[in-house]
Amino acid sequence: MIDIVLASNNEGKMKEYEELLEGYPISLHLLKDLNIVSDPKEDGKTYIENALIKANAIKDKTNYFILADDSGVEFEALGEHFPGINTHRYAIENGGNEKLNPKLAKEIGGTNATFYCALALITPSKETFTFLGEVKGKVSKKVEGSHGFGYDPIFIIDGNDHPNAYYDDEVKNKMSHRAKATFKLIDWFIENKLF
Ligand code: IMP
Repeated sequence: MIDIVLASNNEGKMKEYEELLEGYPISLHLLKDLNIVSDPKEDGKTYIENALIKANAIKDKTNYFILADDSGVEFEALGEHFPGINTHRYAIENGGNEKLNPKLAKEIGGTNATFYCALALITPSKETFTFLGEVKGKVSKKVEGSHGFGYDPIFIIDGNDHPNAYYDDEVKNKMSHRAKATFKLIDWFIENKLF
């Protein structure tokens, strides 16, 4: 088994990665499982920079593989790269996704949006690799569904009829930004003959 510490304490994120990595010889751990405390300032200018900040913050605290991620959405109707790396803050400043999602559906429903997920991997020998996943879609005209989290009730992946939250996790995990970045990570493990 390959031990990987996810540079996060988010159980929801852990669950999604466990589902995405199911069937591979990987054992995932959260920071708290390894008694690692880390809360670096995420002041990078890109998703990749922020993922690297989170990964590098625990570089000297473990000899396991380290995996850190950073994600966000960009709404074409609201300006270039907006809210982008500030996606989490944008939701908080607008009263959380329960309040923000219906507002976005009403105001910019039908317009284009793109979700991004950056992954940073640090190996036990302290080499660093990054992977970026992106998925294009549209803002839904109405809030729908109860699966997933965050913006899932209003983000319709191109080719789908409903937002992510309408479908069960399996549908999202086949084509989400996080899935695409994770498929690149899996390819890296295969290319490096670690599986
Ligand atoms: P983080 O980088 O994973 O913390 O995510 C940044 C922001 O993007 C948060 O507001 C999340 O709710 C949102 N977000 C990230 N991934 C997803 C997703 O798969 N679905 C919906 N919202 C997401």
